Formats: sequence, structure tokens, C-alpha cells
Amino acid sequence: MPCGLPLLAAAIFVYTGIAAQSLSAIMLIYPWIVFGGGILLAWRFNKSRLVFAILILALADRSLQFFADSSIFSVRIVDIVFDAVGLLVPLNLAAFSLIKEMGVLSIRGMLRLGLILLQPLCIVLICRGYPDLDIAGYLGHSFVKAPALARISLTQPALLAFIAAFLFLTVRYIFHRDTVASAFFWTLVSVFIALGFEKLRPLSPVFFATGGLVLAISVIETSYSMAYHDALTGLPSRRALKEALLKLNGRYTVAMVDIDHFKKFNDRYGHDVGDQVLCMVASKLARVTGGGKGFRYGGEEFTVIFPCSLLDVIPHVERLRKTIETSKFFFREYNRPEKKPEKTKTIKGPQRSVSVTVSIGVAERDNRHNTSREVIKAADKALYRAKSGGRNKVST
Ligand code: GH3
Ligand code: MG
Ligand code: MG
Repeated sequence: MPCGLPLLAAAIFVYTGIAAQSLSAIMLIYPWIVFGGGILLAWRFNKSRLVFAILILALADRSLQFFADSSIFSVRIVDIVFDAVGLLVPLNLAAFSLIKEMGVLSIRGMLRLGLILLQPLCIVLICRGYPDLDIAGYLGHSFVKAPALARISLTQPALLAFIAAFLFLTVRYIFHRDTVASAFFWTLVSVFIALGFEKLRPLSPVFFATGGLVLAISVIETSYSMAYHDALTGLPSRRALKEALLKLNGRYTVAMVDIDHFKKFNDRYGHDVGDQVLCMVASKLARVTGGGKGFRYGGEEFTVIFPCSLLDVIPHVERLRKTIETSKFFFREYNRPEKKPEKTKTIKGPQRSVSVTVSIGVAERDNRHNTSREVIKAADKALYRAKSGGRNKVST
């Protein structure tokens, strides 16, 4: 939903008539700032598919503006441009939401850029080369007779493209649930508003630019989220822990969790399996009970913060320890040859399972340990006692 907020703001802006007073200035500046700034921002953060998606919006919007004047261009051309934009933009947005990040200036990036520019070029060439061809007829083809559809100023092929893109982006969001997937969805809504309603046609640059703004915001959102989340396990990172501790006051309890004999895992099964074990332990931490919030402290160490006293926390920490102890972690062991082969080839062995245990040190904020640094230090000392007491233990 946060990605939909700029769109809501634009809708209120237009609906309340504020736009009418300052429309000409906004229409002139807003799209250029958003498209230009958005492309630079996405490029700087290496988000090539967002660069391309904003470029698609910019091209569509500027083409509509350029070909809007029927005193310069024939009605046939004006209609063809509008119908082609309505058909191509949703399909392009759906396709570009799917591509992998490959960089803008890479060969693949250049191919994608070429593909985007080729589309308006093709339309221009067809219009010029085949003036007798009924392109407007093809683009405006009616599959069914439905008077209700007349309220929407899109052709039926364009409407079909929007429906397909909406379905595709919704399913994609359900499976990925990330900011970029959500941004693509809301951008499509914005483009639909820009094109689908005759009355709003003069304001289409506002909605195209708002679609671009949603994508640009998603660049910032994703980078923010990357800075505060651990890339391997997906848990909040140490930076997030530091900020969470700053916000805490009153009574709270910290648990330091450390995987037992983790080095042996790495030595025996390899770093990849070690990483899988870290992810599996992290998934248990993410579901810790008692209101605890898990963080990756670093390496094979995790921290859980509980907003309550040590006595209340102990049963939940015990449960976490037991859950990890009794869970079987399945993985595929890779036969790692002694010598590096000429061709890199991983030979998968049979699926295996191992048990993992953790030691946990717990400390609460009290008069002796007043600052978060002191509480963490005390939890670390307790962890040391759990290790020296035989591991797979909770110590206070
Ligand atoms: P103890 O029971 O005393 O905690 O022993 P340990 O082997 O778990 O602890 P030690 O500190 O000796 O080793 C921690 C190992 O964790 C060493 C390091 O290679 C490994 N490690 C740290 N971060 C990662 C990571 O991101 N991935 C993998 N696979 N291994 C990591
Ligand atoms: Mg350790
Ligand atoms: Mg360890």
C-alpha cells in the first residue's frame, strides 16, 4: 500500500481542483523532474529494470503529448499513437517487472534499451511506409460488443493487455511481496487512470509522472531495506539492532544466540551448506515467541530483543533452543573434489540431514546493566557460560 500513496495524493490533487489552478506549471515541470530524476536515481542504484520502466513511461507520455495536436497531425496518427501506447505500455511494464538486473550499460541492457526504442520506431515506420494499411482498425479491433466498455476510453486489445498485466503483476506480488513488485502494480494503476478515462486525458502527464514517482520511491525503499537487512538470512541486520536498541527504554531482555561448533559444519560440508544452516536457524529466530525480535549480529551469532523481563523470557528462549535442536535440517551435500576441475561442475550427492544446536546467553536491563552496550555484554558473558557448561544450553 505505501507505494500507492503518491497515486492517492495525485488523485486528491486532481479531484479537489488544486491542479486546475497550477496545472500548466505542474504539467510542464513535474514529468521532467520525475522522469529525469527517477532514471538517474535508479541508474545510480543499479536498478536497471526501474530505469527501463521509467523510460517506458517517459516515452509513452512524451509521445502522447507530441502527437496530441490534431491540427498538426492527422486524426488517424493521433488515434494510432494513443491506441499503441494503451496496448504496449502495460505489456512492457509486465515484461520489465520480470527481467533480471543486468546493468544498463551491459550488452543485455543495451538490447533491452533497443527493444524499447524499436517499438515507437516500428509504429512510425509502419504509418509512413504503409499509409493505406488500416493500423487504427487493427489496434481498435472489437472482439465483443459490450456497451459498458464504452465508458473506458481504451480499445479492446489495450484493455486486454491491461487485464493480463494486472493479473500478472498481482500474482507476481503475491509470490514476491517486495517493494518493486508492488511499485510496478501501482504504476500500472496510474497508467490506467491516465489512459482509461476521457475526462482525465488532459491530465495524463500527471498520472504518467506519478507512476514514475512510485517507481523512483521504490528505488529508495529497496536500498533502505537492503541497508537494514542481512542479505543472506533476510533477518534485520546489526545496523537495525543498533537503532532498535536506541529506541528501547524501560525493561527489556537481550538474548545472544550462537550456533554450536559451526566451524565444523563449514569444514565438513562446505561454506554453501554452512550458509543454508544459517538461513534455517534464522527462520526459527524470525518466528520466536514472547514478542521477541531476531537480528543477525554477525557470523553465526544472532540477537533477540524481548520487551519484557528475564523471567518472562526464559520459557520462550528455551522453546527456541529446543525447536532448533529437534528440527532436522535437510540439505544436499556437494561432492567437492580435492583439485579444482577445469570445468566448474557441481556433482550433487544424496540428500542428507543434520541436527544443529545453539547456546543462548540472556541478560536484562537493570540497575547493574543500564545501557544497551552493558546488557549485550552481560548476555555475551552468559553465552560464554552456556558454551563452557557444555553447549546447547540457556544461561543467564
Ligand atoms: P562454538 O560452538 O564455540 O561457537 O564454535 P564455532 O565453531 O561455532 O565458533 P567459531 O567462532 O570458532 O567459528 C565460527 C565460524 O562461523 C567461523 C566462520 O567461518 C563461520 N562463519 C561466519 N560467518 C559465516 C557465514 O556467513 N557463512 C558461513 N558459511 N560461515 C560463516
Ligand atoms: Mg561465535
Ligand atoms: Mg558458534
